[in-house]
Amino acid sequence: MPDIRQGLFRKIPAVDRLLTATQLQHISGEYPRSLILKAINQVLDDLRAKIQNGEIESQTQLGLALVSDQVIEKLTMISKASLRPVINATGVVVHTNLGRSILAEKVLRRFRSLSGGYSNLEYDLERGVRGSRYNHVEDILKDLTGAEAAMVVNNNAAAVLVSLETLARGREVVVSRGQLVEIGGSFRIPDVMRKSGARMVEVGTTNKTHLRDYEEVIGPETALLLKVHRSNFELVGFTEDVPLMELVGLGKRNGIPVMEDLGSGSFVDFSNYGLVREPTVQETLSQGVSLVTFSGDKLLGGPQAGIILGQRELVEAIKKNQLSRALRIDKLTLLALEETLRLYRDERVAVKEIPTLRMICQSHGALTKKADRLFKLIGKLRTGNFSIEFSKGTSMVGGGALPLLELPTRLLGLIPGKLASQVMEARLRSYNPPVITRLEKERVLLDVRTVQERELKTVAQAIRDLAQME
Ligand SMILES: *Cc1c(COP(=O)(O)O)cnc(C)c1O
Repeated sequence: MPDIRQGLFRKIPAVDRLLTATQLQHISGEYPRSLILKAINQVLDDLRAKIQNGEIESQTQLGLALVSDQVIEKLTMISKASLRPVINATGVVVHTNLGRSILAEKVLRRFRSLSGGYSNLEYDLERGVRGSRYNHVEDILKDLTGAEAAMVVNNNAAAVLVSLETLARGREVVVSRGQLVEIGGSFRIPDVMRKSGARMVEVGTTNKTHLRDYEEVIGPETALLLKVHRSNFELVGFTEDVPLMELVGLGKRNGIPVMEDLGSGSFVDFSNYGLVREPTVQETLSQGVSLVTFSGDKLLGGPQAGIILGQRELVEAIKKNQLSRALRIDKLTLLALEETLRLYRDERVAVKEIPTLRMICQSHGALTKKADRLFKLIGKLRTGNFSIEFSKGTSMVGGGALPLLELPTRLLGLIPGKLASQVMEARLRSYNPPVITRLEKERVLLDVRTVQERELKTVAQAIRDLAQME
């Protein structure tokens, strides 16, 4: 046995021979030599491992042409960009793993002209002197929300961190035990508090916090009263929370600012579209809160960003903090944010043009039409691999926003035949572009809500390919 292996090892084509093989000669101009060598070495390593564990038993599997083909396949794989577009058929609109919000077409159109050249990012065109990058979105944020002052940083985690650091470093921040939330593993209120240098003072219990709980701990060391949106969970049953208005009153009586981390933060009242009511950013500010923070890429539907709104002196102090420089927003993000915000000047335009809002507010009629179109595009299938069934189901907003809200939707289900559901799910995921689905009760489910019109054809083709699989 070892002799056979020794013989096979010697039959592996040498690197030099592969480099001059006709197949590789054809494509050698398309790739740098270093990448071709990397692909060759990876393929040869694979072959050696396969001989070692007995997967390769004959030298026909080591022919020059065959191995060259494997090198070419490897080359296409390793030269492909790692970050790729995918089709989101999960029905989770703000899907953190899939990049949260998609930018609006109008936003994308501005990218080419502005990102390919210089801009007035930090330049005051009227006076010809240095300007501030924050100016570009400040005015519009103030207009849209009624805030006294505004600034933006890298993301909401950064917004919370720099706000706490500025207002409460070395002093106390009071927060309810029912609001000590963890968002996606890496953002936890107690941890962010520690990083900011503020001392957290927890009040109340998990399910109930009263105004007197806050009153009892307020003292000379208290720098801030903090309210945190629960985002990805809800308290039900025997519960009590202090309304923001009362907390603001308490803060005023004691001369202590009140901040709310809104998490998602929305400018649109979704109850106008038949969905649940959540206080908007404007409403929160009108209750007299000193500072609010929220994400740019959750319900707002823009790029990743952290938005800070509130009283002028507080926002100015945060701008002056050295940390803000480290957490600052980059110019492409700023551009996307400004363009997204401009769409909010008219709410009807925002709901139509901003994909996140459009998908959340999609009518039942529109969803049914989309499902019908997909069904037609798939056409007749003669296959024992699976059968297709359309059904009603629910989509989720995602991104830690409105966790209990179930949006009625249309689902396309693949019911396993010769193919197991896991195989179908994996196959669709390895399609080009990958189609990300949901596995539920042995079915592969595709939710049309998060599939874009322009992607329906591709999804149909992916399903037709699946039907043809041997
Ligand atoms: C999502 C969220 C964050 C973090 O926001 P990022 O933009 O992801 O940094 C912070 N606080 C709350 C309450 C959230 O929901």
